[in-house]
Amino acid sequence: MSKSNYRQAKKLNNIYLDYAASVSPNTSSIHTLGQKAKEKLKLAREETASILNARPSEIIFTSGATESNNLAIQGLVFAFQEKLEKFMPHIITTNIEHASVLETFKLLKERKLAEVSIVPVEANGIVDPKKIKKEIKKNTILVSVMYANNEIGTIQPIKEIAKEIRHYKKINKRNNIFFHTDVVQAVNYLNINVAELGVDMLSLSGSKIEGAGRVGVFYKKSSVPLVNLFGGGDQEFGFRPGTENLPEILKFVSAFKISQKIKEEEKKRLKNLQDYFFKKLCESFFFLGPRFSGALTPARPFKKETFAEFFVNGDLENRLPNNINITIPDIPSDLLVIELSAKGIMASAKSACKAGDGKASHVIEAIRKITTSFEPVSSPPRKGGEDTEVDGSLRFSMGRGTTKKDIDRTIKALEEILTKLKKWYN
Ligand code: PLP
Repeated sequence: MSKSNYRQAKKLNNIYLDYAASVSPNTSSIHTLGQKAKEKLKLAREETASILNARPSEIIFTSGATESNNLAIQGLVFAFQEKLEKFMPHIITTNIEHASVLETFKLLKERKLAEVSIVPVEANGIVDPKKIKKEIKKNTILVSVMYANNEIGTIQPIKEIAKEIRHYKKINKRNNIFFHTDVVQAVNYLNINVAELGVDMLSLSGSKIEGAGRVGVFYKKSSVPLVNLFGGGDQEFGFRPGTENLPEILKFVSAFKISQKIKEEEKKRLKNLQDYFFKKLCESFFFLGPRFSGALTPARPFKKETFAEFFVNGDLENRLPNNINITIPDIPSDLLVIELSAKGIMASAKSACKAGDGKASHVIEAIRKITTSFEPVSSPPRKGGEDTEVDGSLRFSMGRGTTKKDIDRTIKALEEILTKLKKWYN
């Protein structure tokens, strides 16, 4: 964490009389402390670029991924509109993106600033790269697909999508279609080398990296013709004017480096915990299978009073190692979160949409719409694995502090809660 200018100056027997510039180091000041701050920022940018395999001049520090995503999408759309008169840009994304992408697409469409295509994911929560390619047309300028979903943890085939776009560009002699990815959820576990992924723009957020705090990163390949969204100073190459949040940026870079260093080890550890979590869920409850496949495990002799079923939402293989997302039919997931919280377990829910009680998860909606119903193979039966009005989803997302003991306690709590709730809901 960087010290305030006042304290730094005092230590060197200097006097700090530049409070109007900033209390913490301001990289735009030309005095010694300002220049030192500038050096630190330069190093932070170089280190971030090196992790992403980018050039330092391609790294823009932002407030978070929401800002990075907006800069990518709106910055590109406006750049094309400024350059080409009466041009209506066409942009493509999927139906499970984070709100900072989906809502921005919606906004641009509503304001008649862009034509929009939303490609639905398959039942396993993964988009088909060929379906993305099929949507590309003459005026397409952008494809934006998240690397891993924040609710169900499904990993999108970014390299394959990049390949399809490259193929289209080659056949159609186009060089002005750009590919953006939001790697917020993937950053701790997956390869984020921009050259290997084949992306032109990338967004990430410090808020999902242990110890990194509130900083965003936006990578933009030098060839992407982007315009700034805010007017102001020329910080961050003019794309993010305003005094840089150096203390937070420095904190971010240290944490980012650690997260990359321990990535493989942590991925393995969490995968084991994820397997253990699923195994324990299957031992305690009746596994209806992944929502999309219809596969069922044979029934065991469950006690009627503790009997509960669950689906897994999203692909079981192509999934972040820290994500468990299930639906327990017939029981509102908000209620499960509250009950778990009362037992000291913090998870999260997205409810199904029931008039007046909040919004449905667009991700669960996206996969349940295409879920084929299937018949359970054995008793106790339910209606062919159909979703009901109250079904939502329950997300457990693990991190660096999660242990096997935590999972044991969570399963035990779920058993107690479901035993109680089943009496009310049956
Ligand atoms: N994208 C994804 C996939 C996210 O999960 C989030 C936050 O949860 C964001 C973007 C927004 O990030 P930020 O809060 O840094 O704006």
